[in-house]
Amino acid sequence: GEVDFKEHAKFSSHMKQKGEAASEFSKTKSLTEQRQYLPIFSVREELLQVVRENQVVVVVGETGSGKTTQMTQYLHEDGHSTYGMIGCTQPRRVAAMSVAKRVSEEMECELGDKVGYAIRFEDVTGPNTIIKYMTDGVLLRETLREPDLDQYNVVIMDEAHERSLNTDVLFGILKQVVARRRDFKLIVTSATLNAQKFSNFFGSVPVFRIPGRTFPVNILYSKSPCEDYVDAAVKQVMSIHISCPPGDILIFMTGQDEIECTCFAISERMEQLEANARKAAAPLSILPIYSQLPSDLQAKIFQKAEGGARKCIVATNIAETSLTVDGILYVIDTGYGKIKFYNPRMGMDALQVFPVSRAAADQRAGRAGRTGPGTCYRLFTESAYQNEMLPNPVPEIQRTNLGNVVLLLKSLNVENLLDFDFMDPPPQENILNSMYQLWVLGALDNVGRLTSLGRKMVEFPLDPPLAKMLLSGDELHCVNEVLTIVSMLSVPSVFFRPKDRAEESDAAREKFFVPESDHLTLLNVYLRWKENQYRGDWCNDHFLHVKGLRKAREVRSQLLDILKMQKIPLSTCGSDWDVVRKAICSAYFHNAARLKGVGEYVNCRTGMPCHLHPSSSLYGLGYTPDYVVYHELVLTAKEYMQCVTAVEPQWLAELGPMFFSIKDSHTSRLEQRRKQKVEMTVMEKEMEEVRRSQAETARK
Ligand code: ADP
Ligand code: MG
Repeated sequence: GEVDFKEHAKFSSHMKQKGEAASEFSKTKSLTEQRQYLPIFSVREELLQVVRENQVVVVVGETGSGKTTQMTQYLHEDGHSTYGMIGCTQPRRVAAMSVAKRVSEEMECELGDKVGYAIRFEDVTGPNTIIKYMTDGVLLRETLREPDLDQYNVVIMDEAHERSLNTDVLFGILKQVVARRRDFKLIVTSATLNAQKFSNFFGSVPVFRIPGRTFPVNILYSKSPCEDYVDAAVKQVMSIHISCPPGDILIFMTGQDEIECTCFAISERMEQLEANARKAAAPLSILPIYSQLPSDLQAKIFQKAEGGARKCIVATNIAETSLTVDGILYVIDTGYGKIKFYNPRMGMDALQVFPVSRAAADQRAGRAGRTGPGTCYRLFTESAYQNEMLPNPVPEIQRTNLGNVVLLLKSLNVENLLDFDFMDPPPQENILNSMYQLWVLGALDNVGRLTSLGRKMVEFPLDPPLAKMLLSGDELHCVNEVLTIVSMLSVPSVFFRPKDRAEESDAAREKFFVPESDHLTLLNVYLRWKENQYRGDWCNDHFLHVKGLRKAREVRSQLLDILKMQKIPLSTCGSDWDVVRKAICSAYFHNAARLKGVGEYVNCRTGMPCHLHPSSSLYGLGYTPDYVVYHELVLTAKEYMQCVTAVEPQWLAELGPMFFSIKDSHTSRLEQRRKQKVEMTVMEKEMEEVRRSQAETARK
């Protein structure tokens, strides 16, 4: 992560210049005072004692008690970093970065030196790093290289109650590490709900509770179900701002679009208010926070608002537990969140808006009672809370695509996934479906063993189809081109489309269009940027996010390093891009769609309708080829295909023979589904055979 590291270095030196020498001392002093004020500080000695005496400890404490920022430092101060690092995993990238930054400030060192972080495609650690924050996915990948995690003395699995997919897999793996390495310590932190379950999983280990310091929160329900929660939330903010005593507001929304919409609506209402009153209203600082927000803007939620304005933070569930902001007295809870669900029938993950669980709603409400007695406005009815919400969230492992997990566990030599030590095993149907998808891609053989292609795919921190695309690029001699496309697909959209300049920005984007492919359009954008010396002003002129492009360049160079390590040469096809489309097809033929009507497609396997997105270059140029493949399906008002490429039907037959054959093209969907069912049953049976014979050999 050189690029981002430099950005941080720049940022902190800028801060130093502003913060004059005189105030530097008081700032440090107040940081120490802040540390000592945290609830965890009062139990520091007892906590360290329990850790010294036990290999595994579960630590429970209210959010904001200091678990994430303090425990790593305590362990370091107590000598646990003498023989290895102290690692701390986070389910979210934002949390890993922001917490590492905070701790480096508390320890008065540069971020990336003694304290660092690592997230996918960005490693801000160095030879001196002793405290390392990272996403759980990063640690999981590290177990591929070092199954015993020899670099670490202690691992803290933070926010374990979130039950992210990677955390759940790590549970099983770290349990083995604990058994093999007597010198290794594991700490699992959790909100109260799952503590006992975690303790039982590791063999009834001690549960250490940090005494809480919270204030009562008054909970107010909506009288009737609300039709438009954005509108309701905006009204509630205004009424609090006009008539309630000082104190910051936190609103929970489901995603970026809604957050932007809400922020915009609130600022509009503020303007109206001022216009009507003909004078300045009490200032309100409106601050969005979601994972894709640039980090300098994210940092704003922790800062004091200018002129002592009331802060109004509009957040996703990121602010539920991972990030703690002091001074919140009012919480507005829509009761919804975006949750990724795997639909085995459609064979895809879909982010969908769902009511949150009761536990999550209570957690959200609790955020209002950290600094004083607070109020939580629930934009749903009490009856919905009692009767419609689930008591606890469903662990991710039970609801998402397991492709990556299967690939990873297979390469860790876990032969039989159905026997892996999962705290809550995923539904067998999901495991088998993910295995089937990997088989379709050629990563697993008929009996569910990793193929040589599969073994190569594991090396890349990418979703299986993207890894396959890269390796097909090697086979088809166009790695250079595919590498760029994969990198561009690994960052948020680089197209900038401000609402007030929509037409202008659309026109700018059209100039990059490659008629038959959105993937190639992305390649084109990148190449043109490169031609223009990777310049930032050029991006601005062409309505492109320079940060996104820089990130893509960074990702590209990291993937290039892996390719080099794998001894895969950087082949290129020059300007003959047809072969690039074929590489894309080889990895996404499971997402093939056939033209059915005007601009209307249906998925070739499932018959599900899917549409070209208005932002697609194919849509823009009115080009509707007979067959396309798409990167993913987005379910909004319609089923939209995101990132589409025209393909030749004979490629589909050649690359995805299990789905398509020339002869087959007239067979009904029903028949194809039946065929798929049969194939899966055969694979299941064969795997069963292998298991049985293995068990038999073991018995002999
Ligand atoms: P926990 O993990 O128990 O929820 P944390 O260690 O994350 O608690 O937070 C403890 C306190 O540290 C918070 O209440 C907040 O005051 C402060 N803090 C944490 N992260 C940051 C940050 N990025 N910037 C400023 N203050 C922070
Ligand atoms: Mg925490």
